[in-house]
Amino acid sequence: MPDWPTTIRRGCLGHCPACNGAPIFDGYLKVHDKCSSCGAPLGEMPADDAPPYIAMLVVLHVLALFIVLFYKADFRPGLVLSGFLLFLLALLCMAALRVAKGAVIGILLKLGMRRERV
Ligand SMILES: [Zn+2]
Repeated sequence: MPDWPTTIRRGCLGHCPACNGAPIFDGYLKVHDKCSSCGAPLGEMPADDAPPYIAMLVVLHVLALFIVLFYKADFRPGLVLSGFLLFLLALLCMAALRVAKGAVIGILLKLGMRRERV
């Protein structure tokens, strides 16, 4: 395994954290069972609730900026602009979720944590 920054960066970009040779995801958020390049057990990483938590933490801070703008700067967007901002917020949530899941899988792979089989 590479060092921590490299592992996390590769995961954030959606590449295998171990070899950078193949994608982590098979679609939007579904993880490949194994890396097709090096065989790292990507599908056995118990990412669970950490990626949504991290994504919400980041995105809600962006949302907080708009809330402050609405109340402190008297920024009153119209209906169309409000809808557009909500659409952008949804896109940001989706992008942040994928990036966070890749990073968490990289961290778990580096730590050697695997999902327990029952
Ligand atoms: Zn790999």
